[in-house]
Amino acid sequence: MNEMFFNEPDNRVELCGLTREELAAELVRMDEKPFRAKQLWHWIYHQGATDFAEMTTLAKDFRARLAETHKVTRPGVATEQTSEDGTRKWLFRLPDGKEVETVYIPESDRGAVCVSSQVGCTLTCSFCHTGTQPMVRNLTPGEIVGQFMAARDSYGEWPTPIDGGRMLSNIVMMGMGEPLFNYENVAKALKIVMDHEGIALSKRRITLSTSGIVPEIERCGEELGVNLAISLHAVRDDLRDELVPINKKWPIHELLEACRNYPSSSNARRITFEYVMLAGINDSDAEAHELVRLVKGIPAKINLIPFNPWPGAIYECSSNNRIRKFAEIVNDAGYSSPVRTPRGRDIMAACGQLKSASERARKYSDKAENKAIEA
Ligand code: SAH
Ligand code: SF4
Repeated sequence: MNEMFFNEPDNRVELCGLTREELAAELVRMDEKPFRAKQLWHWIYHQGATDFAEMTTLAKDFRARLAETHKVTRPGVATEQTSEDGTRKWLFRLPDGKEVETVYIPESDRGAVCVSSQVGCTLTCSFCHTGTQPMVRNLTPGEIVGQFMAARDSYGEWPTPIDGGRMLSNIVMMGMGEPLFNYENVAKALKIVMDHEGIALSKRRITLSTSGIVPEIERCGEELGVNLAISLHAVRDDLRDELVPINKKWPIHELLEACRNYPSSSNARRITFEYVMLAGINDSDAEAHELVRLVKGIPAKINLIPFNPWPGAIYECSSNNRIRKFAEIVNDAGYSSPVRTPRGRDIMAACGQLKSASERARKYSDKAENKAIEA
C-alpha cells in the first residue's frame, strides 16, 4: 500500500451506531429500498460482520457500492490485558486519538461488560480516578455499542447466541463517564443493543449507573426501562456534597424521590444503591442505620463496594470487619447487600480505577519532566 493511498482521508460513513431509521435513510440515499436495512442490520448486529463481502444475502454490486461509501468498524484496540481472575480490560483508541476503557467481568456461565459513556468525566467525585482525567468528550452511539461488540469479537461470540447461553450476557454502564450526561447517545446505543433482530439483550440484563442526574433518571425509566443503579455513597448532604459534588445540584431527597418514581421499580426489578466503603468517612454503624432509613419504601438492593485505591487517592478502604458490620446492619433491615468483590484490581480494571493507561503514563512522564526542569 503506498503512502499516498494510506494518507487519504476516510470519508466513508460509519454504519455501526446508526438507528434503524438512520440506516434506512442511508439506503434511500443510495437509491436502495429501505427494507435492505433489515438485512444489513442482521449482518451487523446479529452476525457481527464488519466486511461487506461477507454479507452474502446482499447483491454483489450493492456490497461493492457499500464498501466504497460506507464502513462498519470497531474501536481500535490499543491494549488488551487479562487479570489473574479472568477480568479482561481493553484500552480502545478512537478515531480522534482519544482513549476509553472497557472491562469484561466473567462469571462461571455468564458475564458483564462494563461500558464507558464518555472519555473521562466532567464530574469530580473525590474517590474516583476517572474524575481526575482532564480530557472529556461524549462517546457517539457507535463508540458505545462498539465497545460491547469489540468485547464480543475478543471472545468470538458471533453470531449472537439465541438460546441464552451467552458469555457476554449483561451490560453495565459503569465505565468511564456519567451516562446521563450523554443521555441521547447512550439511549441510542442501548436501543440498538436491545433490538430483537440484533444483539437482542433484554433490558433486564442492562444496568445504568448514575451519580444522580435527576431529570434524566425519569427519561431513562420511561424510554429505556433498564435497571438503575445509584451512586449514593453518603447519607448526609454535607458529606455527599464532598464525595459526589453533583449532590449540590440534586441533593439526596430529590434523588430518592426520582428513585421512588422510577417506573420499573418493583420487587423483581429493584434499584441498586452503590455505596463505596471509605475508612472513617462514611462507614459508621450510624450511617448504616441512616442508609436503611433513607431507602425505606424503595424496592432496593444495596451494593457495598470496597474502595479501590489508585495512585494519589486520599482515601483508604474500610477494614473487612467494618464492612462486615455495616453489611450486617443493612442485611438485618431486610436488604440484600452483597459486598462487591473487586475484580481485576491487578490490571487497574476495578470500579472507579478506569482512566486511560496512556493518560496515566503521560501524567507521570510530565511529572518526571517537571522534576527535571526543577532540578
Ligand atoms: N458515573 C457513573 C458510572 C461510572 S462509576 C456513576 O458515578 O455512577 C461506577 C461506580 O464506581 C460508581 O458507583 C462509582 O461511584 C464507583 N467508584 C468510583 N470510584 C471508585 C473507587 N475508587 N472505588 C470503588 N468504587 C468507585
Ligand atoms: Fe464521574 Fe461516576 Fe467517577 Fe463521579 S464516580 S467522577 S460521576 S465516573
